[in-house]
Amino acid sequence: MSKPVDAIVVGAGPNGLAAAIELAKSGKRVRVYEANDVIGGSARSKELTLPGFTHDICSAVHPLAVGSPFFKNLSLKEYGLEFINPPAAVAHPFDDGSALLLHRSIEQTGEQLGADARAYKRLFEPLVHDWQLLAPQLLGPLRVPNHPFAMTRFGLNAIRSASGFVKSRFKEERTRAFFAGAVAHSCLSLDQLGTTAFGLVLFTLGHVVGWPIPRGGTQNISDALAAHLKALGGEIVTGVLIQSLNDLAPCRCVLFDLTPQQLLRIVGSRFPASFQNKLTKYRYGPAAFKIDWALDGAVPWRAVECTEAATVHLGGSLAEIAASEKAVWEGKCTDKPYVLVAQPSLFDSSRAPQGKHTLWAYCHVPNNSTIDMTERIENQLERFAPGFRSRILARSVMPPAQLELHNANLVGGDINGGAATINQLFTRPTFRTYSTPLADIYICSSSTPPGGGVHGMCGYHAAHAALRKSFAR
Ligand SMILES: Cc1cc2nc3c(=O)[nH]c(=O)nc-3n(C[C@H](O)[C@H](O)[C@H](O)COP(=O)(O)OP(=O)(O)OC[C@H]3O[C@@H](n4cnc5c(N)ncnc54)[C@H](O)[C@@H]3O)c2cc1C
Repeated sequence: MSKPVDAIVVGAGPNGLAAAIELAKSGKRVRVYEANDVIGGSARSKELTLPGFTHDICSAVHPLAVGSPFFKNLSLKEYGLEFINPPAAVAHPFDDGSALLLHRSIEQTGEQLGADARAYKRLFEPLVHDWQLLAPQLLGPLRVPNHPFAMTRFGLNAIRSASGFVKSRFKEERTRAFFAGAVAHSCLSLDQLGTTAFGLVLFTLGHVVGWPIPRGGTQNISDALAAHLKALGGEIVTGVLIQSLNDLAPCRCVLFDLTPQQLLRIVGSRFPASFQNKLTKYRYGPAAFKIDWALDGAVPWRAVECTEAATVHLGGSLAEIAASEKAVWEGKCTDKPYVLVAQPSLFDSSRAPQGKHTLWAYCHVPNNSTIDMTERIENQLERFAPGFRSRILARSVMPPAQLELHNANLVGGDINGGAATINQLFTRPTFRTYSTPLADIYICSSSTPPGGGVHGMCGYHAAHAALRKSFAR
């Protein structure tokens, strides 16, 4: 017989662990059930290719973790978590062999931008200054702003489509492409309203905290969260797939680190029909097509500056990046996809045997797509790093279906727990966000605000909703 608990969390992804930590910090007895044998959800690492090569299966680069109010209040260093900040946050190479870098310094970043230097500084100085005020507001549900002036200044730009914003704000094609590279992390078409917000947040984080990687791999973030939870008295049970509420012991509340589709399967008919209907209509977004390589040497970038950042955005021009992301929303893939690349072993020697390297990359594809993007992704690498293919020792390829097999939350390969469109961003999966019509059932996954990313803020807010309502704190 297992011990009685106050709360159960289903799913040990970063948000499930964050929810459990917040509940345990308030003295609640918490148990987490995880379907997989290994905790972490989309924050896991594994030797996917060859012995001695540690790959981040999903998430790899963590500005959102380091910039998150939830993580800021934990001392995960005690549990072995260490972040490495490469000299630059992002590199964006061009066909002429040059590259732009996102530096910690706004000044230094602006200096590369020619006629846009002043506009860049004017845009980011206030955002960096206000970040500590903006972060709790942006990384949470829609609320009356505590700092209306800072939020209005952010919101007036953030609400715009990125394609329109970059053309009106920047004169240089290179600056436009550079900013578009960050926007495209959203998995949205750049002409959609609200897409500018993603570029503003990610670039601001680059200046405030950098775009760091965890030493040893992303698994160490999950392991540190789990160790912290256990130190607070929490319990984690792995290898248990929850299929029905009958699988769970009686307790005051259950928090699901799952997306609406899975929640419906488990709780289904206990929800009123109208709520079931809303969850059924919840929209999933495009998928990722992910590749990891074991390499015989570092990537031979034509622009050597690319070796200064762990993250490299491959897409060349604004037009190309915009076309790639728009095609995905139209159910197609371009020949030159926008590719996100991470090269952690350049900065963390524990990831690969001496002299060898790991490389991580993905591009967006339509949800559930079966198109093989391997050649197109490798063509993009070869374009900016001639000779890349000759360094490949082994590769692991994960199309959308395989991503979903790895983690059931990646529905159709969607990496964000649902499309981050403007009408699903702050009120996801319904206007109730973390709560449901059932007083003892909550949602704490990236299908709640603020959405995808390893920041733990969905779990944090869901736990506080449960503490307020189920425990009448
Ligand atoms: C390819 C890829 C690249 C990414 N890159 C980045 C990045 O670089 N930086 C970043 O910040 N974010 C990145 N993300 C996004 C980030 O990883 C996710 O947004 C984040 O992990 C979501 O956390 P979560 O706790 O909501 O869900 P998840 O991490 O998906 O965890 C959910 C957990 O629930 C478990 N589960 C599911 N169903 C059940 C069940 N019925 N019973 C029990 N357990 C169950 C799953 O096994 C899983 O462990 C990436 C994601 C992907 C897929």
